[in-house]
Amino acid sequence: MVNLKEQEVWFVVGSQLLYGSEVLETVAKRGQEIATYINANENIPCKFIYKGTIKSNEEVTKIIKDANFDDKCVGLVAWCHTFSPSKMWINGLALLQKPYCHFATQYHHDIPNEEIDMDFMNLNQAAHGDREHGFIGARMRLHRKVIVGHWKDESAIKSLGEWMRAAVGYKVSQNLSVVRFGDNMREVAVTEGDKVEVQIKLGWQVNTWPVGELVNEISKVTDKEAEEKVKEYKAAYELKTEDLHAVYYQAKEEIAMERILKREHADAYSNTFQDLWGMEELPGIASQNLMAKGYGYGAEGDWKTGAMTHIIKAMTQGLKGGSSFMEDYTYHYEKNNEYSLGAHMLEVCPSIAAAKPHIEVHPLGIGGKEAPARLVFEGHAGEAVVISLIDMGGRLRLIVQDVECVKPIMEMPNLPVARVMWKIKPNLREGIRQWITCGGAHHTVLTYDATPEMLQDWAVMMDIEYVHLTEKTTTEELIKELRVNDLLWKLG
Ligand code: MN
Repeated sequence: MVNLKEQEVWFVVGSQLLYGSEVLETVAKRGQEIATYINANENIPCKFIYKGTIKSNEEVTKIIKDANFDDKCVGLVAWCHTFSPSKMWINGLALLQKPYCHFATQYHHDIPNEEIDMDFMNLNQAAHGDREHGFIGARMRLHRKVIVGHWKDESAIKSLGEWMRAAVGYKVSQNLSVVRFGDNMREVAVTEGDKVEVQIKLGWQVNTWPVGELVNEISKVTDKEAEEKVKEYKAAYELKTEDLHAVYYQAKEEIAMERILKREHADAYSNTFQDLWGMEELPGIASQNLMAKGYGYGAEGDWKTGAMTHIIKAMTQGLKGGSSFMEDYTYHYEKNNEYSLGAHMLEVCPSIAAAKPHIEVHPLGIGGKEAPARLVFEGHAGEAVVISLIDMGGRLRLIVQDVECVKPIMEMPNLPVARVMWKIKPNLREGIRQWITCGGAHHTVLTYDATPEMLQDWAVMMDIEYVHLTEKTTTEELIKELRVNDLLWKLG
């Protein structure tokens, strides 16, 4: 997985030669000071590096070319300390291939009553310098984020940090390979999609490997290697089964799948219970443990949700809430106590567990294979979102819905899988109605860590449609929004 802390975000400060060298020296010093301060903040996940003061067309163009070709640079943040005439930015910005953020800040916090004079005004022109910069961003239809606030303001820094995480998501997306072990589940529509379009738009390389190759790789895993893996399971989870053969077989599946993923430089995969030819068990704990390490997973051939799971995990590294592949299983319609129950046949990531998961072995009702070992646990309480990426034909739509996870209100002792229970906003019926209205899938990524702001930033960077369903969303407004979006995306 891409390491967040090794990624760089470049900070460039706009100015011009009009003010003389003394002013420019002060601007440079302050640019460095601001970068150092922000870089040290705990909400800043990447290296935030001051890269210089921009004074000419050539300087803008050079730094943007450098940013485009530097693999460590995930994005650019610009601020105009003084006035920086924007025509000199046009040629450079026209070449920009990295996420762009305009941080409209200013050096001083309050207007200094005694100190303010015409020299002060010449130096501290961000209030109008940033508007000139904003114009050229708007005029060029630049996909950019605008953040406003003093550079020591915690909420402004937090927004900047979230944008950086989205920028890392952009980089991860552009370099992502997804291995499909077998094809999609037969006849299912929402897990399909235009893989060529997705590669053009999002960068994902989505290709198939035959299940036979995986079976061959499983057969090559030694008992000793499996034993080491089972030790790892026992250290992280509580063993609650005597069927050790099933657990060892999962260990071999995990090792074999990870070998293929590593060999193919892939960070996400899909499989399906309909295509397990030659395998003894559907991967359960094998997929759960891979997800816990950061791999993306999609069941029933759902490569889009698998890829999104990895991207979300990469973006939210270091945050503690967890993210998982998820599926809406069934609803609880009790009046004033309404919930959705999320689970899957097996494959829920233990990063969202409320307590230490149990390793259990139970038969599966479908698939016709042996009883697989899996992790059973309850998801923890907390604010979260569910995410679905769908192919609308001609464009991709990212749907994000706000939910509130709770401790499951019943024990469900006979349900032998990991489970999560949540309240859908604004309420169960309207929330489901809105989700279905915009075409959201039954599979999702459930994340406690990626915020709607971060996901919207990512959608803007990827140039895809973004629909956010919140407590305030009304179905009537949503229907209008979707109709308008249909028109806008046709216009391109
Ligand atoms: Mn499913």
